[in-house]
Amino acid sequence: MPCALCSADAPLVSCPVDGGPEAASVSICAPCSDQIAGDLDSGHMRCLATAMWSDTPAVQVLAARLLKRLDAQGWARDLSEQLWLDDDTQTWVDNVAATSNHRDSNGVVLNVGDTVVLIKDLPVKGAGFTAKRGTAVRGISLVHDNPDHIEGRVDGQRIVILTKFVKKK
Ligand SMILES: [Zn+2]
Repeated sequence: MPCALCSADAPLVSCPVDGGPEAASVSICAPCSDQIAGDLDSGHMRCLATAMWSDTPAVQVLAARLLKRLDAQGWARDLSEQLWLDDDTQTWVDNVAATSNHRDSNGVVLNVGDTVVLIKDLPVKGAGFTAKRGTAVRGISLVHDNPDHIEGRVDGQRIVILTKFVKKK
């Protein structure tokens, strides 16, 4: 069997995919495994463009999470936006965030899907507009490797917002 992510015909290791309805893992090659544990190589991770459409939910979940980690790169963000997951699989993807430490300006824990209100005007870098104080941002997602960052849609654009500038509604 080839690597579930990059299809390399190489010896495989088992990579657990936590947060699912039951314990799950996918079989991947050592280079993929090393990158997941350390730094992702964006050249190698182009394989996610195929892996994210796998018939196996655990592979899709892993691919979706890795794309999130690469979110600073345009190609990965584009793929994240194209990726369509059924509700159960999306919940699984987001579950990892349930253990994170995102808190609003008052120290209240933030969860995926919460509504927050901006407590100050925020210039949005690169988008050329200011998100106004008092704007409600519905259905936030959490940037799972950075507890200071959440994501949400303002004026139709998906932006990253610092948690210290929001208040949970
Ligand atoms: Zn691989």
